[in-house]
Amino acid sequence: MTDLSDKAILITGASSGIGEATARVLASHNAAVMLAARRADRLASLKKEIEASGGRAEICVTDVTDQGQFQQAADRTIDRFGKIDVLFNNAGIMPLSYMNKLKVAEWHRMVEVNIKGVLNGIAAVLSHFLNRQEGHLINVSSVAGHVVFPGSAVYSATKFAVRAITEGLRMELHPATQIRVSLISPGAVSTELADAITDPDVLENWKKIPVIPMAPERIADAVVYAVSQPPEVDVSEIIVRPVSQNL
Ligand code: NDP
Repeated sequence: MTDLSDKAILITGASSGIGEATARVLASHNAAVMLAARRADRLASLKKEIEASGGRAEICVTDVTDQGQFQQAADRTIDRFGKIDVLFNNAGIMPLSYMNKLKVAEWHRMVEVNIKGVLNGIAAVLSHFLNRQEGHLINVSSVAGHVVFPGSAVYSATKFAVRAITEGLRMELHPATQIRVSLISPGAVSTELADAITDPDVLENWKKIPVIPMAPERIADAVVYAVSQPPEVDVSEIIVRPVSQNL
């Protein structure tokens, strides 16, 4: 089994879906995990579960749109585990809608969480990584960060932005540093993500798509692959789709 006992990993969006599954899987590989999200009760029960299985977990209630709170999560990780080896910059929202519905507040919220939240994460760990001359940043885009479809214009824009930010950062850091920068783009995964959709027409069409979503553990497996490579290897990009998804 891959042993990650030397890794301290800060995970955002750890209260559900991909982040929660990834925390569980990384902890099962002996990584120390800092669980960050807004829902404290969910984080507390996940911490309890991981500890009951012999793993190491701490929690930090964090709104990623608040740079100060993200910095506190990073500082707490260093305080509790001595360092941050990996930031899994995963928190995100997806209130898809057709543009003519003018759901401006949802557009703005996606920009806040999916773009500014990711930037806040980079700002929270980059100095620490540069001081150590190592570290691993894993950002989460989406297949919707590679293609646009009706209803995804703003969501896709945020996920294209995450790709651009990740690629730009990687190019600035290499070859001068050993800091690794990865992008993971999931296809459909069975999580709470679509619960935020309020546009009934998108929901109606969504139900007709014959895609069988993957378990979130399949994305956790991709994270384990990326973090367990030898230090000279940077897994720059991974796209993981269910076979039932041709988009
Ligand atoms: P979930 O809705 O299950 O999880 C989203 C997580 O993000 C939750 O833990 C939520 O925690 C957290 N979050 C949302 N807003 C904030 C905030 N302001 N501050 C801190 N945390 C926040 O969805 P997924 O697990 O599916 O999503 C994880 C990532 O994967 C997202 O970036 C998403 O875009 C991406 N993705 C998902 C796909 C899918 O099919 N599921 C496909 C492609 C990409 P809380 O509410 O407690 O704060």
